[in-house]
Amino acid sequence: MNKRMDGTILIDSHAHLEMPDFRRDLEEVIQRAKEAGVKYIFTVGTEKKDWKRALEIAQSHPFIYAILGVHPHNAKEIDDHTYETLKGLCQNEKVRAFGEIGLDFYRDLSPRDIQLNRFREQIALARELGLPIVVHDREAHQETLEVLKLEKAEALGGIIHCFSGDYEMAKECIEMGFYISVPGSITYKNAEPFREIVKKLPLESLLVETDAPFLTPVPFRGKRNEPGYVRYTAEKVAEIKKIPFEKVAEVTTGNALRAFRLEL
Ligand SMILES: [Zn+2]
Ligand SMILES: [Zn+2]
Repeated sequence: MNKRMDGTILIDSHAHLEMPDFRRDLEEVIQRAKEAGVKYIFTVGTEKKDWKRALEIAQSHPFIYAILGVHPHNAKEIDDHTYETLKGLCQNEKVRAFGEIGLDFYRDLSPRDIQLNRFREQIALARELGLPIVVHDREAHQETLEVLKLEKAEALGGIIHCFSGDYEMAKECIEMGFYISVPGSITYKNAEPFREIVKKLPLESLLVETDAPFLTPVPFRGKRNEPGYVRYTAEKVAEIKKIPFEKVAEVTTGNALRAFRLEL
């Protein structure tokens, strides 16, 4: 327990606290995150039914911020009112980024052409709102890069969350002003290729995230994920890069603050 109280500061740059998985014990989850040294949590409302709840959680906790947008899974649900609603909600100062938006050609829960159009429209909306973007890309690496370039997303910057592309893609994203966010799956046995990529990337471009309740790191794999476990991801990054954990915590925290344009 000692190690968890050593005064280091971490940021969970991506969680989903508004999801039903946390309804029963949200305050305890948040308390445990604090005890694990997590200074800020960014909770991501991915569809209409979750936006208000994400914002409510952010508004009732000084160290929690919200990210709002329409996930590629839900792209087909966007209607005439969606963007107006989002514009209204994003005026709130607790909303620090627009997302997660992007492409998911793994699950294909919305048709690909709709995903592509809605991704582009939402980058334009983020530009209008003056917010950085949080990008979700699963098995759509080339298309994601193309859209980011077409929409000149380098002017917005932001985060490629749960990064799953190759080293070349990571470098291109970093050149466009994006941070690469590392999820708990970096602790998994089969994640050796991803660990090799992280090893080569500059710490100055990395964030850590849980994507809770998903992607639970070892040693809790198989259980529900929660923001306090971001510690295990940061520890793995330290191990891979052969640098002190404190250094990973300090630099990734500074990176997250810059990505979300916040001051500590
Ligand atoms: Zn995602
Ligand atoms: Zn997510």
